[in-house]
Amino acid sequence: MNYNKKTVRDIDVKGKKVLLRCDFNVPQDKATGAITDDKRIRAALPTIQYLLDQGAAVIACSHLGKPKNGPEAAFSLAPVAKRLGELLGRDVVMAADVVGEDARSKAAALQPGQILLLENTRFEKGETKNDPELAKAMAGLAEVYVSDAFGAVHRAHASTAGVAAYLPAVSGFLIQKELEIMGGALANPKRPLVAILGGSKVSSKIGVINHLLDIADTIIIGGGMAYTFAKAQGGSVGTSLLESDWLDYCNDMIAKAKEKGVKLLLPEDTQCAKEFSADAEPVLHGSMSIPDDMMGMDIGPKTIAAYTAAVQDAGTVIWNGPMGVFEFPNFAEGTRAIAKALAATDAITIIGGGDSAAAVAQMGFADKMTHISTGGGASLEFLEGKELPGVACLLDQ
Ligand code: ADP
Ligand code: MG
Repeated sequence: MNYNKKTVRDIDVKGKKVLLRCDFNVPQDKATGAITDDKRIRAALPTIQYLLDQGAAVIACSHLGKPKNGPEAAFSLAPVAKRLGELLGRDVVMAADVVGEDARSKAAALQPGQILLLENTRFEKGETKNDPELAKAMAGLAEVYVSDAFGAVHRAHASTAGVAAYLPAVSGFLIQKELEIMGGALANPKRPLVAILGGSKVSSKIGVINHLLDIADTIIIGGGMAYTFAKAQGGSVGTSLLESDWLDYCNDMIAKAKEKGVKLLLPEDTQCAKEFSADAEPVLHGSMSIPDDMMGMDIGPKTIAAYTAAVQDAGTVIWNGPMGVFEFPNFAEGTRAIAKALAATDAITIIGGGDSAAAVAQMGFADKMTHISTGGGASLEFLEGKELPGVACLLDQ
């Protein structure tokens, strides 16, 4: 996949109407509808501000939640328009629909330096079906398409991909950064490339393991998926998370790594618990000999030492998935130690995955990382080496 795409800096937007796909899918309070975290709105500001400063008229759009049957007040983007206006310090005009009468007349009247927000793109049934009629109608509102919704680029929807068939299409700054850093690390990494893979299940990370085995120099396994590897190698894992259907797969991956000369590191010791609980007392056991009545919850100190050493001389580190049940302070040490090691290296450090990003932020290391990918599902598919429709549709450099 080509990650070298044109950006807003490569085209002239002065005096033009720009359709800007944002990721305004913000969390909201169920009862009041109040936005509980405006991070995604703030993340969109640099691209919006740049376009306005260049003299463009910005027609922003996004989906919000999962409305099933057309327009529904609970999924309106009106609260986002209000917050966006506060952050920009200027009026944001809100359209009552996506490509209807109101959106069309407001888009037509929009002047350079002004911003209009369309209603939730999923109020149109054609959105998730990537209906060409809808894409054409959206394109008809503007002269240029800019995509900055990295969180949605793995979906081929009308507003994330379809519309690019009818307008010159480039990336905003958020997508540009994802492509530059994540794309760069996957396509042409500064070596050695170390991939740290954890989280709960092997089965949810198959695509990532497969792809990274092809490009990494070292693969480090932690989290819940480690027990399926341990069991596959003849270990006892007690009541730990185990995916019996994936035992052969784990052995195949170990063999494939050996064949390719990729170092594959598995935990030596494991912090265990009698039950899955925040109050459970950590007990240390060898990773191949977890007692029948205990479950693995985190990597142990020997493993932490080996893993942090493996990270030390890395050129690039890609981390997806926590090393243990970091939500419980008693079992957060492995994840914290890895985060700390990444914060201390000179390597390019990339965090992909929602829970890993949350762990790094919660532990106070977020600003020490080169890049924390903003799209959960999108970053996973990126790491799988899949073609992302919302990226593929943009103009090549
Ligand atoms: P990401 O969102 O970063 O891709 P995942 O969603 O794959 O990560 O996994 C995160 C979850 O994995 C966390 O909720 C964490 O508690 C869980 N996890 C990590 N280690 C274990 C373990 N040993 N046993 C059970 N769950 C685990
Ligand atoms: Mg997750």
